[in-house]
Amino acid sequence: MLHATLIGLSLAAAAAGAPPAAAAAGAASKCEVQIAGNDQMQFDLKQISVSRKCPQFTVKLRHSGKLAANVMGHNWVLTRTADVNAVASEGQAAGLSRSYVKDNDKRVIAKTKVIGAGESTSVTFPTAALKDKESYTYFCSFPGHWAVMKGRLTVVP
Ligand code: ZN
Repeated sequence: MLHATLIGLSLAAAAAGAPPAAAAAGAASKCEVQIAGNDQMQFDLKQISVSRKCPQFTVKLRHSGKLAANVMGHNWVLTRTADVNAVASEGQAAGLSRSYVKDNDKRVIAKTKVIGAGESTSVTFPTAALKDKESYTYFCSFPGHWAVMKGRLTVVP
C-alpha cells in the first residue's frame, strides 16, 4: 500500500514536471554535435548550429583518417571569425605539445587537443560565451590546415 502510494506520488510528480523534463531532454539531444576530420584535411561538417536553449554545448571530434597526429593532426578551435588568422598564426609557435594554441589565449572560446588517426576527443563550453550578432568560425589550428579546414558556427534561438 505504501509502495503504491509512493508510485502514485512519483507519477503525479512526473506528470507535473513533464513539460520541462521533456523540453530538457529534447534540447539535450541537440546540445552536442559530432564532427570528424580526415586525411584530406577536411571536416565533415561545414556548419554547426548552437541553440540558445542549451546552457552548454559539446563538440565531439573524431579523426577518421589513418595518419598520425604529428603528420595530419586535427583539433577543433572556436573563435570569432575575425580572430581566426591571428589565433592560428600565433598557435603555430605553440607547437604540437600545446595543440597549436597559445597558452591562455583569451580569443579562444573553446578548443580540443590535437588528435591523430582513430582518436577522439571533445570539448564542452558555456553558450553564454557566444553573442547573438557575432560571427564565429571553428577551425583546425594544425599548421597549414586552418586555411581550408574550418566552418561556421551560428547561434540560433
Ligand atoms: Zn587538422
